[in-house]
Amino acid sequence: MAKNAVKITISLLWYCGEVVRSTATRLLGRRGDPRFIVLYYHGVGGDATAGFARQMDLLERIATVVRADHTGPLPGSRRCVAITFDDAFRSVREHALPELVRRSLPLTIFVPVEYVGSPPGWAMESPVDHEEVMTGEELRALPDNVDLGSHTLSHPHLSQLSDERLQEEVEQSRLKLVELVGKPVTTLAFPYGDYDQRTLAACRTAGYERLFAIEPRLADPRGADFVRGRIAVEPTDSALVFRLKASGAFAWMTYASALKSRLLARRSRP
Ligand SMILES: [Zn+2]
Repeated sequence: MAKNAVKITISLLWYCGEVVRSTATRLLGRRGDPRFIVLYYHGVGGDATAGFARQMDLLERIATVVRADHTGPLPGSRRCVAITFDDAFRSVREHALPELVRRSLPLTIFVPVEYVGSPPGWAMESPVDHEEVMTGEELRALPDNVDLGSHTLSHPHLSQLSDERLQEEVEQSRLKLVELVGKPVTTLAFPYGDYDQRTLAACRTAGYERLFAIEPRLADPRGADFVRGRIAVEPTDSALVFRLKASGAFAWMTYASALKSRLLARRSRP
């Protein structure tokens, strides 16, 4: 709890710093790059629908919502935000999708292909009750504002697999999803956010154009990044926390963890 309060306080200071910086840029007559933030959710339970709807109302006020695989310069000068969901849970279709369709907002859902139509069978940090991955029929019937991406076949830690298994997970999941839904699949989200250079090479070979991590860094404003950072969002996040996340104010955590790794590496050096 105290750790969370510290994170929120630093993010708030970061947000204020960004407001000062962008105001100064404007006063100097310059145009700063618009910010591009990608959010990721998992499930949205029935009791969280109202909170999710409030978040979408706020998002429409503070940002332009774009597709997660947006390529090229961002539209306009407002901050841009993309909405994604990992694991393709049925609760997203039942509770989040109607709110997104009502507002004509695009979204991307990442599908763990081997679990289509089944309960999640992979190891979860916070196990969920009463969730199932959508069936093939449900995935095919999703409206046009939904893009589908791969979340691999079996939701493994990709960096721990043999070369052969790694290639199979990324390549076969794309091909099977294309076959299942009859639409192109060019994106993949790493399960547990776990990837390394070998994973990136396997994904390139398998034909992906854009990959999604879980480091809360901003996406490239020119839309040219192969691996795009994302920030985790819960439908239960307060308006303040959601606003900070959707403004990119948690990006400092990426710098903090890079600094921590560098310090640890230095300490372990003989
Ligand atoms: Zn997942």
